Amino acid sequence: MLFVCLVAGFFTADIISAEWTYDNQGNWSPSVCIEGPHQSPIALSTSLAEEADFPPFRMDGYWQNMSTILQNNGHSVTIRPNHQKHIPRIHGGGLSGKYKLDHLHFHWKSEHTMEGQRFPLEMHMVHYHEKYSSYQEASDYAAEGGVVVFAVLFYLSPDDVEEFNHVLKAVLHVQKHENQQTELDGFVIKNFIPMDVAGFYRYNGSLTSPGCNEGIIWTVFVHTLPISQAQVDVFRSIRTRHNKPLEENFRELQPLNDRHILIKISPVGVSAGQNLFAGNANVFLVIFISIKYCFSG
Ligand SMILES: [Zn+2]
Repeated sequence: MLFVCLVAGFFTADIISAEWTYDNQGNWSPSVCIEGPHQSPIALSTSLAEEADFPPFRMDGYWQNMSTILQNNGHSVTIRPNHQKHIPRIHGGGLSGKYKLDHLHFHWKSEHTMEGQRFPLEMHMVHYHEKYSSYQEASDYAAEGGVVVFAVLFYLSPDDVEEFNHVLKAVLHVQKHENQQTELDGFVIKNFIPMDVAGFYRYNGSLTSPGCNEGIIWTVFVHTLPISQAQVDVFRSIRTRHNKPLEENFRELQPLNDRHILIKISPVGVSAGQNLFAGNANVFLVIFISIKYCFSG
């Protein structure tokens, strides 16, 4: 009988720890989530950051039309490449080696704050070092730079943003139940990355959900992109395993402790308040280059 109780107790405890939610953040396990000194997210601001110079990022495969699987995993919406021959890879930007895209997912509201502001949406692009065979393997080597995450923050726009419509149609297909998934073809990641990626924050942190692995190299782009409230509300409508809408899925800010935040200032010199989707950015760059050419010539 005692044995049965012990076994039952073991499984109950296991189920409780497996059922982490955004309402029980103080009880997340493993213990590094609570006690780890280098957890994410953190508050970012130019006044806290030291200016640093990093070489430019080199991004390969972010402009292609990808076949992906979009899933409601009960904690977020994830998008991962599906039977994709050419997996997007990134290097440069002070990273050692090339990193392959594993998946991307969204948090509503944002997890990181910039200059004290929390944004309505944050996208995380999770990558792993190409020397590992999978993200799962790389995450065992997180402390040695196995995993890097790139974050894009989205600000509230009065208008719907065309680029999101295709994705949100797929979100509606997986809205009702945890683990529902659907194919999402024609997904172009670059549409969700600012045109100017030269300005970014860099710091060492953790995964922002259990297991909270530390040693993750974070890049948070300074430039933000637009999304409308109606579009954010589609994300907020997805349901958890308890059949409740996942209204918010952001982790509270974590203490900085002994860490340094670095910032690379974009040489293009657009202020952080200006936000560029790809089309507008091209126009801006042409004007910028033309003005520069006229005045230097
Ligand atoms: Zn995340």
